[in-house]
Amino acid sequence: MTTAHDHVFRNALIYDGSGAAPYRGELGLTGDRISAIGGPGSIPSDAGEREHDLGGLALSPGFIDAHTHDDRIVLDVPDMLPKISQGVTSVVVGNCGISLAPVTFSGPPPAPMNLLGEARAYQFPSFAAYAAALARAVPGVNVAALVGHSALRLATMDDIAGKAGPAALDAMLAHADEAMAHGAIGLSTGLFYPTNAGADIEEVTRVAGRFAEHGGVYATHMRDEQDDVLKSIEETITTAEGARIPLIISHHKCAGVHNWGRTLETLPRLEAIAERHPVNVDVYPYAAGSTNLRADLITDTYRIMIAWSRPHPEMNARDLVDIAKEWDLDIHETARRLQPAGAIYFQMDEADVRRVISSKLAMIGSDGLPHDDHPHPRLWGTFPRVIGHYARDLKLFSIEAAVHKMTGLPAKVFKLAGRGRLAAGAFADLVVFDPATIIDKATYDKPLQQSLGIAKVFVNGVLSFSAAEGVVKRAGRLIGGRA
Ligand SMILES: [Zn+2]
Repeated sequence: MTTAHDHVFRNALIYDGSGAAPYRGELGLTGDRISAIGGPGSIPSDAGEREHDLGGLALSPGFIDAHTHDDRIVLDVPDMLPKISQGVTSVVVGNCGISLAPVTFSGPPPAPMNLLGEARAYQFPSFAAYAAALARAVPGVNVAALVGHSALRLATMDDIAGKAGPAALDAMLAHADEAMAHGAIGLSTGLFYPTNAGADIEEVTRVAGRFAEHGGVYATHMRDEQDDVLKSIEETITTAEGARIPLIISHHKCAGVHNWGRTLETLPRLEAIAERHPVNVDVYPYAAGSTNLRADLITDTYRIMIAWSRPHPEMNARDLVDIAKEWDLDIHETARRLQPAGAIYFQMDEADVRRVISSKLAMIGSDGLPHDDHPHPRLWGTFPRVIGHYARDLKLFSIEAAVHKMTGLPAKVFKLAGRGRLAAGAFADLVVFDPATIIDKATYDKPLQQSLGIAKVFVNGVLSFSAAEGVVKRAGRLIGGRA
C-alpha cells in the first residue's frame, strides 16, 4: 500500500498565517507542497509515510525575514543556523541599497557595502550570476532578492557623489531588466548612506519605475530617520507614487533622543497614505539599531557599543564611552581611531518600538548583520522575541497576529507566491513551535545564543532543522519574482 502523504502532522495547533485564530487540526505534505489540511480526523490514519504527533504544539508557515543582509552568508555559511533556529524559512536580501549584484570592487568596498564583506565577497557582475551561485550553494533557507541602488550606482557611475547622468541611468535600467528577468523581486535604496545619498527623487523614481514595469517592489532605508523623518516619508511617498511601485519603509524608527515619541506622527501619516498607495514597514523588536560606526551618529545622549573594528578588534562589545575613557580621548576622536568599524546604537524609545510593531502595516524583519564580530542580538533572536516577549508575555497583540506579521503579510507584500500561508497546494515551509516556551536568548552582551521553543522546521517539504539535531538538511532556493 502506498501512503498518500510524505509527512502527516496531527494534533497540531494550526496558525495558518492569515491572522485568523488557531485551530486544532492536521496537515499533510507531499514533495515540496502541502497536500492536505483540515480539522481532527480529516486525514485518514496512517496516510503519512511519516506520522508526527505534535502533542498540541503550534504549526505555522515558516517565518519570512522581511529585512536582512544575508546576501553573502547564504553562500558562505549556507546552514543559516541563526535564522533557521528561529523558524525562519525565507529571507529577503538586498536591503538598504546594498546587494552583491551587479557590482564588483578592486579595492575595499566603501561603507556601507562593507557590511556584506570585503572585495572578494563581490563576485557577481549580473543578477543571473548571483542566482546561479545561490542555486549551487543550496542555502538552508529560501532567498528573495532585492537589487540595491548603491550597488547599481557603484556599478555604473564614476563619481557617486551626485546624481546619475543619462548614460549611468540607462545602464542602471538595463541592470534592472536583467535582474528582474532572472528572479529579483525589486529595488532597495539606502538614501541615508553616502553611496546612495547623491540620488534625488527624479533618479530614484526613474530606476524604481523600471522595476515597477516588471512587477517589482521598492524598499527604502530613508534619507533621514531622525529630525527629518517626516520629510523623508514625504520624499519616499512621492517617489513610490511617481514610480507606481508598492512601497516598504525599512526598519521604521524615530531615532535620536529628541525624536522619541514621534511614531505618534509617522504611523498615522503612513496609515493615511496606505488608503491610496500600497505601503508597509518592517521593524525589528529592539530599541537599539546597528550599522557602520558613523561620525553623524556619535553622541553622548545614548549608549553606543562597538560591534566590530578592523584596527581594534579587542574593543568589540565594549561601550564607546569606556574606550574613550581608557584612551583618554573624546568620543569623536575615539570613534575615528576605531574605523572602519560597526556599532550598536541605543537610539530608540521602547514605546515607539511597541507602537511600530503593533501597526497593521508592520512586518517583522531582523536587519541582522551576520558578518559582525559582536552582532546586535536581533540576528539570532528577532522572531521568537516577537512571539514570546511582545505577543505572549506583553500581550501587545495575539500570537496569530504576530505569526501573520512574519508569514502571510510579508508573502503578500513581496509577492512570494505560495508562501506564508498553510493551504493545500502552498509550499511546505513549516515551523513547529511551542507557544508556551518560545523566546529569544540572545542579548547585547551575549548575542550568539540560539532561541528556545522551535521544535522543527521544514523548508520546501524537507526537514531542515530540529531542536534535537540542529541543522538536518538544506533545501532553500531563490523565490519570488520570476524565480
Ligand atoms: Zn538600513
